[in-house]
Formats: sequence, C-alpha cells, structure tokens
Amino acid sequence: MRKAQMLGFLASTMMTALPAAALAQAPSQPGPAAVSATSETQPTQSGGANQAAIHVDPRAVEASRIVATAETGGLEVHALDGRRLSSIDAGDTVGVALRDGFRIGGQPATLAVAADGGTNSLRFFALEGDRLRDVGARAVPLDFAVENVCLFRNAQDSAYYAIAVGDGGEIDQWMVYATADGRVDARQARRISLPTKIKHCVADDAGGQLYVAEQATGLWRFNADPETDSSPVLIDAPRLGHITEEVGGVALYDAGPARWLIASDASSGRLFFYDRGKDDAYAGASAIADPRGAAVKEPGGLAATGAALGGGFGHGLVVAADEDAAGGANYKLVAFDALAAPLGLAVGTPQMPASDIAPRFPAVTARVETTPVAASGDAADDPAIWHNPADPAASLIVGTDKKAGLYVYDMTGKVVDFAPVGRMNNVDLREGFKLDGKPITLVTASDRTRKAVAIFRLDTAARKLVDIADGVQASGLSDPYGLCMYKSARSGRFYVIVSDPDGLNRQWELVARPGGKVAINQVRDIKFGSQTEGCVADDANGALYIAEEDVALWRVGAEPKDGDKRRQVDTVAANPALKDDLEGVSLYDLGKGRGYLVISSQGNNSYAVYDRDGANAYRGSFAVVADGARGIDGISETDGLDVSSLPLGPGFEHGAMVAQDGRNVLPGEKQNFKIVSWTDIAAALKLESR
Ligand code: CA
Ligand code: CA
Ligand code: CA
Ligand code: CA
Ligand code: CA
Repeated sequence: MRKAQMLGFLASTMMTALPAAALAQAPSQPGPAAVSATSETQPTQSGGANQAAIHVDPRAVEASRIVATAETGGLEVHALDGRRLSSIDAGDTVGVALRDGFRIGGQPATLAVAADGGTNSLRFFALEGDRLRDVGARAVPLDFAVENVCLFRNAQDSAYYAIAVGDGGEIDQWMVYATADGRVDARQARRISLPTKIKHCVADDAGGQLYVAEQATGLWRFNADPETDSSPVLIDAPRLGHITEEVGGVALYDAGPARWLIASDASSGRLFFYDRGKDDAYAGASAIADPRGAAVKEPGGLAATGAALGGGFGHGLVVAADEDAAGGANYKLVAFDALAAPLGLAVGTPQMPASDIAPRFPAVTARVETTPVAASGDAADDPAIWHNPADPAASLIVGTDKKAGLYVYDMTGKVVDFAPVGRMNNVDLREGFKLDGKPITLVTASDRTRKAVAIFRLDTAARKLVDIADGVQASGLSDPYGLCMYKSARSGRFYVIVSDPDGLNRQWELVARPGGKVAINQVRDIKFGSQTEGCVADDANGALYIAEEDVALWRVGAEPKDGDKRRQVDTVAANPALKDDLEGVSLYDLGKGRGYLVISSQGNNSYAVYDRDGANAYRGSFAVVADGARGIDGISETDGLDVSSLPLGPGFEHGAMVAQDGRNVLPGEKQNFKIVSWTDIAAALKLESR
C-alpha cells in the first residue's frame, strides 16, 4: 500500500474498527491507584532503558532472567531480584527479544536478537545461563532507522522471524536461520509499512499475530506469518480511543485462557489491558510505582510472561522500562496478579512456555523457485511439466500468468520463453500428438481473453511455444477456467476438458487439420453442483479427477461415452485435513496403473495425497515451508500444480511437484512457481518413488 492510500485507509479503518464503547469512553476518570513493583533492576550502566525480554527457565524458575537494552551499554542480563549478572557489547541497543528452542548446530538455544540503533542492524546472541554469547554470522544491515525488534516463531512451520520496526513506519520481517557453521543469519522475508514511526512490537506465536505501536496512530494488529495477508486491524488510537498520545510499549501475557495484550500509555503513566480472547477489546487501566511507592511517570518498553516464576511472581510478571527512575534508568518488575486484581482481570493458569508447537503437517521445502511473473497480484496460476527424455536436466515447465500469457521455464526456474497470448488460466500438455505425420508435444490452455481453447506446440529444441490453433477455438463457455488433457490408452485419441465458473465441464477431442493446425470437436458435457477448476486425467486407467472447489474431489470416466456417473474420492466435510478451496490436482505415476493423486488444499496451505488405484485411499498431507539457508519461501494458497514421476535432472531424479505460490516472499516479490523434489515428499509421507 502506498502512503497516500494508507492514510485514506487509516481514516476509514478508524471509523469502523474501533468498538462503540471505546469511542464513548474518553480517558477522563481519575487515574487508577499505582501498583508497586516487586523489584527493579540496577540502573543500566549507560543510563538508557528502552526494552526488556524475559527468559523463563522451565527447570529452575529462580534462574529465569531479564535481558535488557542499555543503549551504548549493549545488552544486560539481570536476575529476577534486579541484580545485573552480565553485559555484552551489542552496539547502541534500542530493542531486544528472546525465543527458546532455536536450533543451532542441532542444539536448542535461547535466541536473543538486539536492534542496534547505532549501525541500524540486527545482532544475534544465545543466552547461556547468566551470559549472552554472540552467535551472529554478521550484523544484519537494515536500510532504515531501527526503533525496536521482536521475534516470532511461526507455529505453522517452526520458522523464526525477527521483525524490526523503524522510524519511517517500516515493519521489516527477517527469517532467522542457523548456518552450516553454527552461526545465526537472517534473510528479509517481507516488508510492510505504516505511515509514521513505529517504536514497539510484539508477536503472538500460537495465534500468529503481530502487534505494533505506531506513534501517531496507535496500536495495530497484523498476521505475523509472511505467507498471509498483511492488512492491519486497528486496536486502539489516540483521540478516538483510549490512548492519550502514544504507546510506549507492548507485551503479551499468556496463561491458559487468560490472554492479555498490555500497552503502556506513556504520557498518562498507565498500562492498558486488552482481552485477546475478545478480539483485543479494551479491559482497563493500571498504574505502576517503584518498590517504594513512587509513581513510574512514563512506563516505556514492556515485556510480560504468564509463567509461574516464584519469588512473588507466581502468576507471571510484567517488566517495564523506566527511563526517568530516580537512581538512573532501569526496569521495574511487577507481579501480574497485583496488576490484575483491582481490574478484575483473569490471571489464568500459570503455564510454562510451550517448548514445541507441533506443525500440523509433515513439512518439506522447495529446491528451486522460478523467476517471478511480470504481472502483479494473483497472476501465476497453473503449470505443466515437460520431461526431456534425452536430457532430463533440460526438461521444461510451462506456467500460466493468468493476466498476460504463458511462460516457459527451465529446471533452474529461469524464464526461457514468454508468449504474451492473453489471459491463460490453466495449461496442460501431452506427448505424441501426430501433426503432419510427426509426433509433437501438444499444449492447450484455457483462454479467458477469447473464451477459447488455446492450442500450441512446445518446440522443445527452441524451447518456445508455437501457436497451432486452427483459428480461435471458441469454447462456448461463459469463462473458460480449469483445464486438463486426456490421451486415451484405449483409442489413442487426445482430448481437452475445460470448466466454467458454474460447474460445467466440457470435453472436446483435439483433431489435426491440414496445414499443421489443430482444432477441437465437442464430445461431452459434465455438470457439477458448483465451481470446479483443478482436474487431471489418468490416461492409463481412463479416469478423470475433478476438484469441486468448496466440496469434493470427484472421479469420473474420461472417455466421451462414460457419461456423468461420478464417485467421491474425498470431501472437505469428511476429511479435516482438507480446507477449501480444493484446487490443482495431478498424478504421480508409479507404472502399471499405480501411483498417487496430489491435490492442493488451498485453505490450509497443504497438499493431500491419495492412492491412484483402488478406492483412492487417503495417504496423508504435507506442507511446503520456508528454507532460510537456501532462501526459498514456503508455498501458500496454491492454485495450480503439476506432478511428474519422470527424472527431471539433479535433485529431481524421481520427479517433482511444481506448484503455484500465492505469496512469493523471502523477499517479497511477484508470484512464482516452486519446484519440490518427489524424493522429499516421498520421505515425508513414506510414499514410493519411481
Ligand atoms: Ca490464487
Ligand atoms: Ca496444469
Ligand atoms: Ca480456483
Ligand atoms: Ca510463498
Ligand atoms: Ca521467494
């Protein structure tokens, strides 16, 4: 979103997003009684205090630690009673965040990331007992003035992200990964922007949410998974909501059902509580004081935990930066139950941090991604793989840009041809079609520009597409959408099946015409109850599989005389691993009529696998996740996919799945296709390979 657009968007969001109760309740009532901190840290050595993070030691809660920024003093480690245990040079630190369970060299580590406002970079450390150890492969440079950093561990794929926020409204999300030599590095996953300075952020790992405090506008919530939509929700704002001027810090408290968002309203000296179980509804305000009862006038950066820490923190802890403390800038440690009691907030069941949130599906990574398509937005759609029998590594992929035409890619993902032939939605191909007595690779695509079936020859030597349609081959469909081809083992004839948005599937025979042209002859209509798109023909078994997007995967006979008798392979209602839309479907051929069907379960970013033969038994689902070291993002919201069991070169000796990726990130770019080795899929789901 551009800034001008964003400003208009802000105005409209503020009118609609804030609950009426928030608008009616101006913060005019007398301030709440201050809750005294249980302890406070020694003043930082440098005199600055901006942000702390809490490490909960699950084996010995008294060994839990506070890691805090000390500006030019780097990072300091404090005990729960406030004693400084150690410090380490980390530049001019303005932000810090911690996460457990990050694996370095196969060993779990407590990862700390520091935002260095002096060099505008991110630096990585491991917390080991009372000390921090520098584990960064480098200081990761940022191209803006960094204000703070938070960490997010994605429950979908266990990937770790550092999110740096900046002076110009930058929300810069970096995937953090361990290098082969045991250091920690990061790659930019995506960049989101707000119009003005952002000073604080915090991520909710289990909920997949990112909260950011924008100085001028207030408190926002985003999806934290970079493979999701990045539009924000406004939670609170100055003037229209509760915030007086600006938010000075944000933190999350999690203890069973008690899930609070805490924000410091710096200029009024209060902490605000929002109920994450009720869409972040405002729940009350509190104020804090030092252990002697003197008010903390401007609470700054916050950290919180719902873990039972003992030592007065049996229901968790809130840590607030206090730049103006009498003895020098320090951090106040306040018991959560003391804050919660006057407000009647639930303290929940104290919990230790979840050590491992298990991903839902076995995960694989892509080995190659293609060059992004030229068109913006949802543009890439459906691929078809051409196997080169003479030189498998020189195999090709034809892929649609549904706004512009057809790409031809090599197996390294590079574009070798682009045919600007219009809005091609889906594409498929078959070998051995006889044209002027010679076998060709016949390619067809659903042409939404001309409401037609587009027909090409793949010139495999020149690696380009040649239009061989005998004029425009009108489909008679309102909008040609899904498409697949069928080569009958029984008759040797070639067919193409195309769907419209209303569930109609029309089948034509592809016939050679004089002069090296090809035309279509309609042979059958099959009607489904609602929209279908993904389809694949099983040539050897004479079957056609069609995905009715919101409902089911169906099997019908592929021969023109097979009528419209159909069988359900699986349904969205019956299989909890499926989440509509059901999209692209393809076939892995093990020979002798055996193999697998693979279908995109678009609604939960996964792929379901079924037996090709028999009753099409469900074999499991997998997801394709990000690979930080290789720099290839995961796949989300796949429309079209193709699968081949034939060798396709190094890494793809047993074939591959090529799938459209709805969000091409790491870094954020236009859409593309990912190539996943069948070897990896087979290992994840214990499947056979050819
Ligand atoms: Ca799409
Ligand atoms: Ca296809
Ligand atoms: Ca679709
Ligand atoms: Ca992606
Ligand atoms: Ca990418």
